[in-house]
Amino acid sequence: MIYELRLKEELRRKIEDILSRESREKALNDHHSRRKPRPCGFTIHTGIGCSLQCTYCYIGDMGFSWSIREYPLNGVELVYALLNNPYFVPGENGSLIAIGSVTEPFHGVTRTRTLEYIESISKYLGNPIQFSTKMYLTRKDALFLRKTDPGISPLITIVTIKYAERLEPYAPPPSKRFKTIKNLREAGLKPILFLRPIIPGLIEDEYIELIDQAVDHGAHGLVAGSLRITRSIIERFKSKRLPVREILERAPCIPKGREQVSIDTGDLKREIARYAMRKGLLFFPEACMANLYTHGRICWKMIKLGLRVLGDKPPVLNKNEVFKIGQYLGLTVDRIRDRGSYVDIWVKPVDRVNTTLFSELVKCRFKKCVRIHK
Ligand code: SF4
Repeated sequence: MIYELRLKEELRRKIEDILSRESREKALNDHHSRRKPRPCGFTIHTGIGCSLQCTYCYIGDMGFSWSIREYPLNGVELVYALLNNPYFVPGENGSLIAIGSVTEPFHGVTRTRTLEYIESISKYLGNPIQFSTKMYLTRKDALFLRKTDPGISPLITIVTIKYAERLEPYAPPPSKRFKTIKNLREAGLKPILFLRPIIPGLIEDEYIELIDQAVDHGAHGLVAGSLRITRSIIERFKSKRLPVREILERAPCIPKGREQVSIDTGDLKREIARYAMRKGLLFFPEACMANLYTHGRICWKMIKLGLRVLGDKPPVLNKNEVFKIGQYLGLTVDRIRDRGSYVDIWVKPVDRVNTTLFSELVKCRFKKCVRIHK
């Protein structure tokens, strides 16, 4: 048996023994037991909906509410849901965990749940955890996080100073978030400035100030990401007299209904990256790299990009092992092409569940992105 899957089965049995039947059923019926990994890892929801109502946020268009409630699973139930997820790989070299999508994990309503999930994942699974937040984290919070997962990857979202009141009316002001960076750094963590979304028309005048302040407060690095728009986001920008011309000029099309359209900000991202690196920050083109970095690990893409960070060098792709993983999962691996930062693998049959697990196993074991072909 593949050792990652043996570990998963052992852990699953262990957790099964400490949960009631009702709790087990609750976990098995939960979406975390079925969710596929995203490029940033497994997204964990510690709440449902979000009351911060950021003007650029698309969760309303995804059907989530602008009010927030705590996620119904407790920490151990969440762990059990993940151990029953067919795609999840447990362990410190396992699937990456990302907390903070579609809700604010440190909102007053969700923060206890978030801390509980971080504790349970660290205690039972050991997977690398990352979170993103706009809330203020005190020194005490930072010390607790450090004690629970010394490698935890904190992404502190700050996308504007000047327009914060119009863009993030219910979030703590950027000054408090810079203070969060300071508190995390002083507790021995590696806080990262999360500049997502990059808003064209606004960011050009602000990124220098954002990066300078992040450096002054102790940020280790920067992750930047693009804006996605929907019709309602554009309407909200207009109603708050925020400029939309630059956004629309970069949009490949005008979104219809609840459709999300990505705005091309590649040039701005490069400009931001250049300045961040000049100021001594590490620039991570993808959030998952920051998660690996704070946990002392490196992937092949980071090496290819010349990201000079300390960490365990990833193992060289062993094709025999890849063939064996495929065979164990009932897949025939026809061809493997190691492209350096990623690997192309041709498999048959393309069974959705096993192929996704196969891809996740190869990615976790060799720290290399995987592209599956028929
Ligand atoms: S904090 Fe995040 S989830 Fe909440 S409204 Fe703002 S962007 Fe959306």
